[in-house]
Amino acid sequence: MRRFFTWACCSLAIALVWSGTPATAAQIEITYSIAARGTSGQAVALLAATADQAYADPRGWSLWGRVRFRHVASGGEFTLWLAAPESMTTFSSACSPSWSCTVGRNVVINESRFRNGSPYWIGDLARYRIMVVNHETGHWLGFDHATCPTPGAMGPVMMQQSKGSYPCLPNPWPLATERLAAARILGVTGLK
Ligand SMILES: [Zn+2]
Repeated sequence: MRRFFTWACCSLAIALVWSGTPATAAQIEITYSIAARGTSGQAVALLAATADQAYADPRGWSLWGRVRFRHVASGGEFTLWLAAPESMTTFSSACSPSWSCTVGRNVVINESRFRNGSPYWIGDLARYRIMVVNHETGHWLGFDHATCPTPGAMGPVMMQQSKGSYPCLPNPWPLATERLAAARILGVTGLK
């Protein structure tokens, strides 16, 4: 037993060295629920799976593991919606049937974009879905749109990449600068 413990302990230590990033306890938790308007079924389950992936990834708004997003059955701090195009304007007249939209606590993913991606997105559909969840959640966090800082660089996730990332490269994850800005908003400490 002792031998096993020692092995397990050292394997963990080696794994941490290999990963290059020490395990980090979450400092804050954000709760969210998932709902649908004008649609249901498999696409909603796929949105839930995409959100799980986007929110748990250290490259995302989890801020290298400092923030834990927890999916709750109802309510929560924000609601992540999958909405049919014709439902988009029921959230706000400022929302478009063509695009996703965030209004107050409602982070609304346009079903057509989620199913089909965008003709302006270069890359696979799975990465587009991650991008659109991260982008709209970034609005909920308080971010406005960003522009491409340097041609050829990775696009900020808050750039309107659904309408094209040129002259930046398509990128579904918040840049380090965006994550550090989110840390300031959320009061997450210990990051430089
Ligand atoms: Zn936007």
